[in-house]
Amino acid sequence: MGLDINWAVDWVRRSADVVSEHRVELINLDREIGDGDHGENMDRGFQAVLPKLDDLPAGSTPGDVLKLVATTLISTVGGAAGPLYGTAYLRASSAVGGEVSLDGNAVAALLQAGRDGIVARGKAESGDKTMVDAWTPAVDAAASAAAGGADAAAVLRAAADAAAAGAVATEPLVARKGRASYLGERSAGHRDPGAQSSALLLEAAAEAASN
Ligand code: ADP
Ligand code: MG
Ligand code: MG
Repeated sequence: MGLDINWAVDWVRRSADVVSEHRVELINLDREIGDGDHGENMDRGFQAVLPKLDDLPAGSTPGDVLKLVATTLISTVGGAAGPLYGTAYLRASSAVGGEVSLDGNAVAALLQAGRDGIVARGKAESGDKTMVDAWTPAVDAAASAAAGGADAAAVLRAAADAAAAGAVATEPLVARKGRASYLGERSAGHRDPGAQSSALLLEAAAEAASN
């Protein structure tokens, strides 16, 4: 079964919940290798989206929800993550266009467009210890699942699991982009906060789809 507007809205609500639950954890990760504001930035952004969900006009599509998230994150999150996530959701919105129901291939395309947006904006490569290290394995897992005929929920489950593993795998890496790169070798031994928040958001997407 395809994923519709109800999934998209539920994804945003679950994202806001999970970011709020993990606010302190994200702050602490960012305190270790950045400036300690990632949890606060993300929480502010997703809390700002919530009331706007109620104003979505009848007939809105998943793409409209993704666009609403994009514009809200861009105007409220700030820092590095605001424009990066904003671009991700904007590109994801364009990728699904006005489709009302997303199948496995559409979800894989949504995720790929999001990752490509982050890369276009931030120019990070795999292994630079950024959110890209959660997104790229997620996109790859989503693409294989979709190619194997998985439905949208199974594609998201594969993506979420790969993103979680990708976030853990940032721990030994030396940061080459963003604030953490100022620490050089001392950035090793800490999980990247943006990779962790990305894993949380993709887990929320998968949980919304399995409901
Ligand atoms: P800031 O570093 O401006 O305080 P945040 O703390 O909100 O912003 O976000 C930091 C996260 O942004 C990092 O953990 C990393 O995942 C991500 N990030 C930073 N620079 C880049 C980049 N060039 N490409 C991809 N992700 C990046
Ligand atoms: Mg920060
Ligand atoms: Mg900051």
